[in-house]
Amino acid sequence: MRRINYTENVSLEYLKYFSSKDLNDIQDKWDIIRDIYTELYIFPSDVKKIITADFSKLMKWYFEWINLIKRNKDVEKGLIKRIDGSNSKLLIFDYSQYYSNIIKFFFENTSSLDLYSCCYCEIEPVTNYKKKNGANRITLDLDHFFPKDQCPILALSLRNLVPACSACNSRIKNRNNFLRFYGINKQSQNEQMKILLQISPTCDQYEFNKNAKIYVLPKVGFSTKIGYLKNIDSYQINFSANEIYEHEIKAFRLNQRYNSTSILAEALSIMDLKRNYPSSKIQEMTKQFKGIISSEHLEEIIFRRNFDENRHCNLLKLKKDLLD
Ligand SMILES: [Zn+2]
Repeated sequence: MRRINYTENVSLEYLKYFSSKDLNDIQDKWDIIRDIYTELYIFPSDVKKIITADFSKLMKWYFEWINLIKRNKDVEKGLIKRIDGSNSKLLIFDYSQYYSNIIKFFFENTSSLDLYSCCYCEIEPVTNYKKKNGANRITLDLDHFFPKDQCPILALSLRNLVPACSACNSRIKNRNNFLRFYGINKQSQNEQMKILLQISPTCDQYEFNKNAKIYVLPKVGFSTKIGYLKNIDSYQINFSANEIYEHEIKAFRLNQRYNSTSILAEALSIMDLKRNYPSSKIQEMTKQFKGIISSEHLEEIIFRRNFDENRHCNLLKLKKDLLD
């Protein structure tokens, strides 16, 4: 639901979290494996390019890789396990080996990344803190948009990493059937690519906020009862979106998850505020304050639009849509 802003500068910053020894090590292994399996020449020789590539390149490589391993299974074995039956393990783009560096990058760059909640659901806030022993902790999972088990070459690529909550990353997302998860396993590869460009929060074409809207409506017909929150059982939260973003809403079960009691109660409190403070009432109150407080300031105190936006609160999309 929230695009993660991976700029060019952010990419360069990300690279700094790999030491030159790390990068040389990955590069050496990549050179060796490319010499053995020359089919891998379809990918760049420079591993830094793979790590910092933009999303459309990653997508192109993902499909090329999938097509390649269908033709030649050995390539996959060579990349993941070992070379030519020797015992040397050759995990090249080994996420677990560099995990602590990657997490450190997100920990130290939350503000430049504008990273305050799960990119897929905006339900779970991201918090970071130092433990007593000085270790960095961040309540954040990193989802590999293109599953690393399916395409290990992209395991370290920045624009394949979606900051997510553990519910979205582990419990909901189905890695084995990545395309089926998004409901696009039956389309042609061209069609799939068109959709993937728009539903990855790491791609600049991601426009969920423009193409989807969240609103509150009565469960049946219309409600004549006064007050939203006290009639919580009569209301529900609903997402509506164009066809592209319906894939994402369904995949991450946003309609169901947003109708948990706590989120619904938060939404209905906002609806009550809106009903209780229409603009005519705000104007009237401003007059009563006789210029001590402006109507904009009063509105901000009541609705906290700017506060929520500036503090990057979770559920931001929900709050904004209901106040619109
Ligand atoms: Zn989430």
